[in-house]
Amino acid sequence: MLFSNPVPVQLLSHPILAGKGLELAVKRLDLVHPAISGNKFFKLKYNLEQAKSEGKSKILTFGGAFSNHIYATAEAAKAENMLAIGVIRGERTEPLNRTLSHAESLGMQLHFIDRSTYKNKTEPGFLVGLKEKFGDFYLIPEGGTNGLAIRGTSEILTPEDQNFSFICSSIGTGGTFAGLYSSLSAHQKLLGFSALKGEFIHQEISGLTGKYHLSSPGSYGIFTNYHFGGYAKHSQELIDFIWAFYESFGIVLDPVYTGKMAFGIWDLIKNDYFAKGSKILMIHTGGLQGNTGFTEMTGIKLPGSE
Ligand SMILES: *Cc1c(COP(=O)(O)O)cnc(C)c1O
Repeated sequence: MLFSNPVPVQLLSHPILAGKGLELAVKRLDLVHPAISGNKFFKLKYNLEQAKSEGKSKILTFGGAFSNHIYATAEAAKAENMLAIGVIRGERTEPLNRTLSHAESLGMQLHFIDRSTYKNKTEPGFLVGLKEKFGDFYLIPEGGTNGLAIRGTSEILTPEDQNFSFICSSIGTGGTFAGLYSSLSAHQKLLGFSALKGEFIHQEISGLTGKYHLSSPGSYGIFTNYHFGGYAKHSQELIDFIWAFYESFGIVLDPVYTGKMAFGIWDLIKNDYFAKGSKILMIHTGGLQGNTGFTEMTGIKLPGSE
């Protein structure tokens, strides 16, 4: 996959930052690739390589109807001349939303399954059924997190990012966070902002670091209080923040992941979490394709939505 390296790091300028003596910059993974946005690019990269080396020409993965992962997988498979199958939670509704219609237009085969079947999607019997239906495929789990994905996300930070003391990222399944963690330097602390409600994410992350034997001389912390009611839930305060951020910095955020993370960082800044002189790097994990779908569904306009 073509890769525009180095990823731009944009320094933000704002009176609050100047007043608190902080440096805040955004690593713009949303600009990594014209279509395969953000962290999903890194998560897919080695998985597609692996699929090819196994001689597989079909990728099968799972996701919800607005999934950034489904969208990115459809794009990546197309770019690599592979066939993608998207197993989608819920029923097919016509017209398809933007995410799914785009994926389908790229050649992804969409296979809809009801929510209770979807819950059991990792069971061997279910996978056997999918193989009977679609033939042999390379399986990428929901959200794209596996060992190869973490290998990819461990390449997000580069030597130029060494001068930051805090690295901030949104957390969904934790694959991005785990890769970032494994690539920290000793003086760096990784802060994660969970997009999902609940404390389970602490176990999820320690499960990933254990399973994939990830270690780091740096440290991490996770915030679970910026989910705005749960995954993909929003409030007017969040929408207002996304607009204000756009107006101040010209950077579009999404309401599911990056908007909540940026809100959390800004809240921490206001509450003096960061010592004077701290240099903070916010990872923009992309995912802006969903803004149009969000507007279609809620009627709420966002920067970047059509
Ligand atoms: C998928 C996604 C995440 C979550 O990544 P994980 O590796 O699952 O934690 C964060 N931000 C955006 C924009 C995403 O699309």
